[in-house]
Amino acid sequence: MILTVQRPQPPATAAVLPAGWTVKGTGNQVDTGTTINEYRGDPPQLTEPCNQMRVSGLVFSQGYKVSGAMNEVYDGEHMVSSRGPGSHSGGAGRQGCRIPLVESARDSQVAAEGAPMPRTTPPRPVDIASVFPELAPLARQAVRLHPRAGRPSVHDSSVGGPLLWPVDEPWPACAEEHHNWQPPVSLGDVRRKRALLEAAWLRPREPHENLLDPGQRAYLDELRAGHPAHTGPNALLPVAQLYLRDVPQLAGPEGADLLQVLWCPLDHDNALPAARLVWRNTASVGTLLTDPPEPADVEHYGSYVPEPCVLHPEVVTEYPAPHELPRELADRLYGWGEKQEEDQEEGPGGAYYQYELSVAPGWKVGGWGPWSFRDPSPMHCASCNAPYKPLFTIDSGEWDGGSGSWIPLEDREEPSGPVGLRRPADPPMVQIGRSYSMQIYICPTSFDHPHLEVMQ
Ligand SMILES: [Zn+2]
Ligand SMILES: [Zn+2]
Repeated sequence: MILTVQRPQPPATAAVLPAGWTVKGTGNQVDTGTTINEYRGDPPQLTEPCNQMRVSGLVFSQGYKVSGAMNEVYDGEHMVSSRGPGSHSGGAGRQGCRIPLVESARDSQVAAEGAPMPRTTPPRPVDIASVFPELAPLARQAVRLHPRAGRPSVHDSSVGGPLLWPVDEPWPACAEEHHNWQPPVSLGDVRRKRALLEAAWLRPREPHENLLDPGQRAYLDELRAGHPAHTGPNALLPVAQLYLRDVPQLAGPEGADLLQVLWCPLDHDNALPAARLVWRNTASVGTLLTDPPEPADVEHYGSYVPEPCVLHPEVVTEYPAPHELPRELADRLYGWGEKQEEDQEEGPGGAYYQYELSVAPGWKVGGWGPWSFRDPSPMHCASCNAPYKPLFTIDSGEWDGGSGSWIPLEDREEPSGPVGLRRPADPPMVQIGRSYSMQIYICPTSFDHPHLEVMQ
């Protein structure tokens, strides 16, 4: 089989090719390996006869990745895989920036001595408010949550962990209309698929050994087939619970000391899962529910199923994305950014402020909205017309090619072995759209007013 790897972007890292494939043309001849696709949960199914593979704009390997345009893989005639970049707040479009992936984060939240390891965002390279004093009044505190693989209990703040829920309180369900672009799957399907792929990625392999054997491939196809959508209400799935003691800045209704976020893990009118916010006073919770209902239907790819994570909250300072600044100021920041880096082929150039100095990527509470691919629209409460304020951001990853400087100091070690399905940059494994983020806004007037969900 002969492949052609076309790389219209500046060569960044070398492609690592599927077993048995060789590279012709601009590909790096020394590459042998296993994957070309960032989306490790859906490795391309390459079929014979194959005569061309095209990686458009993106080249991924286990060691590096590049953020950019769409990633397409062809088997000669048909596109067998198409994935977007791991873009985050403002990361879309930034290309050619290399960042090392780091050691698998499985249970890495506990240091050798058993003490939780904090997470530390490196200081921003420039104190932008001293250069542009007009930004100073716009500074906001955000709490980066730094979810990392772990085994949280109902008494811990978590993403994808169990909720502290009274046995006598009905478990919420969603009766809205669903948009199933592909057949839904079950929670069990997602868990089994992830377990299969996690083991496959971690298994030591010879350079030309396939990721999955034919039996495993058939099983994976079975798990991905899905089922006809159920017609009744769909039980919600826990997304996060935040004890207010753990998250500075987070304040709820009188007496509440816990925020719980659940969602229906399917696409709705806004192409997002439908979230439910529950503020709770833990002192009033008696006997606990130990076996909460599970959703019958889950989005086809399992994109809205968070893996259990413990949190490492850290307060950082944010400034608005350029999209939320007066045009004149945004333009001056862009011009200033262009002068900051000599090598603008590799660096963010005019987007320096946006990428490095404004909004932190990843799951967080408060701060500013990570506007990137779309412009902010006026967002006012449907009940009282007050302007909404950001509460909670769910992100498709914590760092990518455009956000290397935001990687916590504790997560910068090179991987010492194979990286599993669960990438160090994305322990929760939630995917919003094409690796975007979902932000939940609330009304400042009343916690009883409806919240707003925005994909950005
Ligand atoms: Zn729903
Ligand atoms: Zn309101």
